[in-house]
Amino acid sequence: MKPWEANIRNVTPYVPGEQPKEADVIKLNTNENPYGPSPAVKKAAQEFDTELLRLYPDPASRVLADALAKRYGLGRDQIFVGVGSDEVLALAFLTFFNSDKPILFPDISYSFYSVWAELYGIPYERPALDRDFRLRKEDYYKENGGVVFPNPNAPTSLALGLSEVEDIIAHNQRSVVIVDEAYIDFGGESALGLLSKYENLLVVQTFSKSRSMAGLRIGYAMGAPALIRALSDVKYSFNSYTMNRTSLVLGAAALEDEAYFQETLGKIRATRERAKERLGALGFVCPEPSANFIFASRPGTDAGALFEALKERNIYVRHFDGPRTKDYLRITVGTDGQMERLFEFLENYL
Ligand SMILES: *Cc1c(COP(=O)(O)O)cnc(C)c1O
Repeated sequence: MKPWEANIRNVTPYVPGEQPKEADVIKLNTNENPYGPSPAVKKAAQEFDTELLRLYPDPASRVLADALAKRYGLGRDQIFVGVGSDEVLALAFLTFFNSDKPILFPDISYSFYSVWAELYGIPYERPALDRDFRLRKEDYYKENGGVVFPNPNAPTSLALGLSEVEDIIAHNQRSVVIVDEAYIDFGGESALGLLSKYENLLVVQTFSKSRSMAGLRIGYAMGAPALIRALSDVKYSFNSYTMNRTSLVLGAAALEDEAYFQETLGKIRATRERAKERLGALGFVCPEPSANFIFASRPGTDAGALFEALKERNIYVRHFDGPRTKDYLRITVGTDGQMERLFEFLENYL
């Protein structure tokens, strides 16, 4: 071993879903939105003056922060914008989870949480979801250095009711509670309305799923001004210019087209309900889905083998190899046409 090797920070990284190169892939593996961003985004992209790219962007991301503040009825000092909610969450862990006590998040949830905790050396505990993959609010009553959970949860798609979310926040007023609402636009109740009541609450959302802009990398956090200030200070200690000019302009344009947003959300929800029925008819079971994916298992069918067989036919879904998740596939809700291809395959396979 070389002497300098002893000083290398060794981490086990998060492994994102595959981004296959083949053209005719049915891609139901990373919860992207099949409908593409609003035409307003396309127009803004066409009108974008590339001459501006010689200048650094606004470090405070005001164009986008203002548009978000307006959309959600908050002050600009309650909004923080970052490079995808992954960056927002990573900075939030760094900013708010500085206690010697463990932070808490569910055993089955977004697998990035433990990666960040390991990276920063934050102690953590993962209370187990119950048999039906439900989060038990009582598990979050113990002393902790912070709480984070997705709502709806990933990869289960199951939503926690707002009264239970509030109960967890109310029991943890000595910690920061982060509610990761990456999928809230597809179902479930947002905790945003609780911001006026709890200054320890941070709500994190993203443009990647419901607004169909995963390629642009826009995430945001909403919370009390003191939390947003602390988060910004950490960001400015790291990189002043996280948000590029194009993302700021196109992100703001997306927020102007509420009609398109609602229309595509409606289509995805309708496809999800039909897909749930079809899967049920084929013998699959799933927790009630509230996100743009379904976590499905078929008693007697090997999910790992099914995953491989689907991939062979260019249908990509996600399989998580944990003891409680290995019998399930996480299937992103695509277009009706894409789902039809999936069901045709399943009918033959089974
Ligand atoms: C997709 C996802 C994110 C991150 O998405 P970004 O593309 O970085 O905004 C965060 N949390 C959960 C639970 C997700 O599924």
